[in-house]
Amino acid sequence: MRTPSPRHPTPRLAGGTTGPGALRPLLDIVLRALEDGAEARGGPLPAGGPEAVAARVRDLLRDPLPAHGHDPGHALRDLVRTLAEGSADPADPLCAAHLHTPPLALAVAADLAAAALNPSMDSWDQAPAASEIEQTVTRALAAQVYPARPDPEALVTTGGTESNQLALLLARERAPGTPLRVVCGTDTHHSVHRAAWLLGLPAPVTTALDDPDALHRTLTVTPGPALVVATAGTTDTGRIDPLAAIADITAHHGAALHVDAAYGGPLLFSDSRRHLLDGLDRADSVTLDLHKLGWQPVAAGLLALPTADRAAPLAHTADYLNATDDTDAGLPDLLGRSLRTTRRPDILKTAVTLRALGRSGLGDLVDRVCTTAQDLADRVAKHPRLELYERPTLSTVLLRPTGATDEQTAGIRRTLLTEGTAVLGRARAGGRVWLKATVLNPHTTPERLDTLIALVEGSTPR
Ligand SMILES: *Cc1c(COP(=O)(O)O)cnc(C)c1O
Repeated sequence: MRTPSPRHPTPRLAGGTTGPGALRPLLDIVLRALEDGAEARGGPLPAGGPEAVAARVRDLLRDPLPAHGHDPGHALRDLVRTLAEGSADPADPLCAAHLHTPPLALAVAADLAAAALNPSMDSWDQAPAASEIEQTVTRALAAQVYPARPDPEALVTTGGTESNQLALLLARERAPGTPLRVVCGTDTHHSVHRAAWLLGLPAPVTTALDDPDALHRTLTVTPGPALVVATAGTTDTGRIDPLAAIADITAHHGAALHVDAAYGGPLLFSDSRRHLLDGLDRADSVTLDLHKLGWQPVAAGLLALPTADRAAPLAHTADYLNATDDTDAGLPDLLGRSLRTTRRPDILKTAVTLRALGRSGLGDLVDRVCTTAQDLADRVAKHPRLELYERPTLSTVLLRPTGATDEQTAGIRRTLLTEGTAVLGRARAGGRVWLKATVLNPHTTPERLDTLIALVEGSTPR
């Protein structure tokens, strides 16, 4: 039998000794397309709204799976350029709606190596060095959360949503029999409610966590085992719940405590702000998200635990990944570090960032964006035609034009989005709609803040 001769040359691979040589000219194309796309966009997001962006994409992708392929360099260039031109780019200081971080160039470069080598974190024979890097770095990060513990641990997740799910799952497994009651704040992240639903738990009871008496009353009337979920850095305002007081009440009632520090967790790196998280180390689990105040490309989530054995409910054996005799013979068993199977070595970019910046370098970035947010709040507070919601705790500033209605305030956001001039979020706080600026860009200058304020003013209906 004859093997049919291939009609196409076999595309080159990214790994091995020759992979980098194949990648180099392609990276050149990617980088040029990123520059061209950003230049064509000319601002924080594409002008013209959803229809204009979709039309450009549809035009390029009229035939997304052609019968015969295109020139690879052109395919790469055209799609990357279209993506860049049509992106909301958090590297632009006027793109400040969400906890949508501008990633560090260093972390992105490290992530390329993860993609090229493609280690998978579900068994040692797919990730020999990556698995050791993950364990070492996650333990160091867990030690930031739990400095007094001898063996704290952190699991790598896709972000706050997965971390919160795991936290509820681990709490449920520690309270067998009666259903676990989740008690959370009124401004708790939506993923906590979805996690309760996913895990078959009763709908969470919400209470005002900034009022310790209210929590005490809620726990007094809540039957059975309870998990209190506090937040260090709410998505809407960046507020931090009074963690130490909550830990006292939770302990008094014998309830478990999870702290969602997806946003505020990296305050741990800042010597001048670490105290805002006092009480964090008393939690049974802590969500961290380094694709927010950690400047990592997605995904970079963690769930920190006070002791490694807290992750035991995730232990699982599959003969093809961690057969007992393989484990007994010394092959590390990685499957119990996640509910996922195939899993990227997302810790690599974080490991590079920690090594390059150190704790002080990261703390400096955290301080810088928090200071910039204070500066923006000052400018809003002094402005005769703008109203400030409150002084920021972290890096979120809520503002609205004095005297504007909720509809007008929401309309300003959409006008700026359609113009492509600024990306602001919206938040409901104190029963009203506010424009939300989340400062995550360490390069944002006072001049850019003035531009932001001028854009809001310029779009305010008179
Ligand atoms: C962003 C955020 C989450 C969700 O994290 P993802 O990374 O988007 O899954 C959860 N909690 C809080 C407080 C957040 O800010």
